[in-house]
Amino acid sequence: MKPLIDRLKPLKKDGRRLLGCFPLYPPVELFHSMGLEPLVMWGMKPFLDGTARSDRHIQNFVCSVGRHLVEFVLSDAGAVLDGMFMYNACDTLRNLPEILRSGLEEEGRVLPLLNAHIPMPSLEQTDARQYLRDEIQTLIGRLEQTFGVSFSDARFEQSVSSYRRARALARQLERAVAQGGIGFGKFAGLMQGNCLRSVEDQIEKMEAVVSEADKRPALKNADAPGAGVIISGIMPPPSGVSDIMEQSGLRVVGNDIASLARTYAYTPEDGGSAPDYYVDFYYNHHPCTTLLGSSDHRIKVLETLIQERGARGIVFLGEKFCEYEYFEFPFLMKRFKEKGIQSLQLEFSIDDDENLGQVRTRIEAFSEMISEGDAP
Ligand code: SF4
Repeated sequence: MKPLIDRLKPLKKDGRRLLGCFPLYPPVELFHSMGLEPLVMWGMKPFLDGTARSDRHIQNFVCSVGRHLVEFVLSDAGAVLDGMFMYNACDTLRNLPEILRSGLEEEGRVLPLLNAHIPMPSLEQTDARQYLRDEIQTLIGRLEQTFGVSFSDARFEQSVSSYRRARALARQLERAVAQGGIGFGKFAGLMQGNCLRSVEDQIEKMEAVVSEADKRPALKNADAPGAGVIISGIMPPPSGVSDIMEQSGLRVVGNDIASLARTYAYTPEDGGSAPDYYVDFYYNHHPCTTLLGSSDHRIKVLETLIQERGARGIVFLGEKFCEYEYFEFPFLMKRFKEKGIQSLQLEFSIDDDENLGQVRTRIEAFSEMISEGDAP
């Protein structure tokens, strides 16, 4: 647990209060501009010794994301948090505030918990923009009251500009992966590590990797070795699986992973108030199963990505017990099959990063099939 505490403490430098956030797309720019350090509580698994505390509060048929999140908050490392923020997403996360509150009470801890409701209908169905503006305005008031901080338009613009830079660098790195300049495993590890870095440190780290990648000769997608695939899911594959994909001759030319591309794909243009910024941010977000209103656009975005990057197949990485993703897999796979795009569905549960023999066999068979262009 100590390594995690050592990683988290520097986030509180300059008196910043650490705000644990879930799920993946909280208004980080707003928190940062108000002197708080947003910590999106994903990617804690490598630092945790199992899920013993979480298992006392939530069932073992909940996804690993939810179980690790609860374990972290209730752990000794979670005591570094100064508050939590959540918005509505899936059924698993929807009930976590009460569970966390009672778990923390048992540990003799109390944390302020702020929330916002992000309207989920698509714009074509209901125009909830004013509701969302009001939610953001209310959140600003609650942050000021809870943490004794203040909002300023100028500071908000500065924070937006930092996050815009970080997301642009992530997209640049994704391109370098597609061109074979960086391995996907290295890229995914860097991005997961970014969950525990301030945005300033994220930028520094990614700039260093970009300049390292720039020194290598750029390959066009078609010239880079390996059959190009898109990967899709909530979490990136375990590092052992990324290795198997590369060893099997697959090259990740793009991704639709919630903690990767869905997070860094879009930042609204400059200008406008904070409430207007978040209307743009959520309504034009990269489609995600957890933002229901955006789901209608998912097929189109994936098809465009496959075409632009010259991918020969798509690998769906199922997070076990994540109904949101599983509802869509059959439909997506059928639709891609009709268009001649092969897909492979893998499933990972909480301890599936060991004993990967069966996964290796399936990936190797898939790689062989798409490399030869055979029918399924
Ligand atoms: S993986 Fe799925 S079920 Fe789990 S928290 Fe994310 S969206 Fe919810």
